[in-house]
Amino acid sequence: MADTILRGMSSDGNIRIFAADTTQLVGTAQKMHATFPIATAALGRLLTAAAMMGSMLKGQEDTLTLQIRGDGPLGGVVAVGNAKAQVKGYVNNPKVILPDRVAGKLNVGGAVGAGTLCVIMDLGMKEPYIAQTQLVTGEIAEDLTAYYAESEQLPTAVALGVLVDTDGSVIKAGGFILQLMPGSGDDCAQRLERTIAALPPVTTMLSDGMSCEDMIFAVTQGFDVVIYNQPITPEYRCDCTRRRVEKALISIGRQELEDMINEQGSAELTCQFCDAAYDFSKQQLEALLKKAEN
Ligand SMILES: [Zn+2]
Repeated sequence: MADTILRGMSSDGNIRIFAADTTQLVGTAQKMHATFPIATAALGRLLTAAAMMGSMLKGQEDTLTLQIRGDGPLGGVVAVGNAKAQVKGYVNNPKVILPDRVAGKLNVGGAVGAGTLCVIMDLGMKEPYIAQTQLVTGEIAEDLTAYYAESEQLPTAVALGVLVDTDGSVIKAGGFILQLMPGSGDDCAQRLERTIAALPPVTTMLSDGMSCEDMIFAVTQGFDVVIYNQPITPEYRCDCTRRRVEKALISIGRQELEDMINEQGSAELTCQFCDAAYDFSKQQLEALLKKAEN
């Protein structure tokens, strides 16, 4: 089944909810980066969040970057999303192995460690919007919930899950983001909190065969919620091009480029997001150096 993001809104306008099945795109990321299960879960959760948060962006050219920097063995995890819910990402150390802290549950928080979550939104303004919060658990969903509370002052529940098979492949991935609009009231928040606390984990809901629609109704049971009938199809897509890599090379500056030419002669650059390799001969680097001079 194709990946899906569904959006819903309560009829009184107090609640909005996004639910995602990102099994395919997280599977793509797992194969592309050859991640071990803990890295698969960390990257998959962040990609799932980036897909949903990307689909919240208003402008078609807007992009969003979620950057986790922790002192654990994973190093950093990055996911980028756009308004079409196209995502890409990587994890610094994809082959981390750690024992489970709770039996049967991947120790993502331990692998991430303590650190920060940075949310960068490029909304086509002069400067991007940047918000940084401390990681709460490193389990990613809780960290994003804290980001929404601190930086956007929006009561938000984030749930993310990736179920990995014994052979390392992705069985299921998905999640939901529920937000309370200003003025929704404490009673509404408490009822939702109780419902969400009683729900099984996202991975259980998905592997039990629940669709995004089923998840939305499970999370918002007792509320009158309308689902937008235009589903979004999120996907893993890298938009790197040789031109962009050239631009990046030019922007590292004259000195760095000269050193590269003198020390290595040629250069091979690999895209962190999709592992595409871009080769530059000495002549090509020299041509870029000329552009850097002008
Ligand atoms: Zn790429």
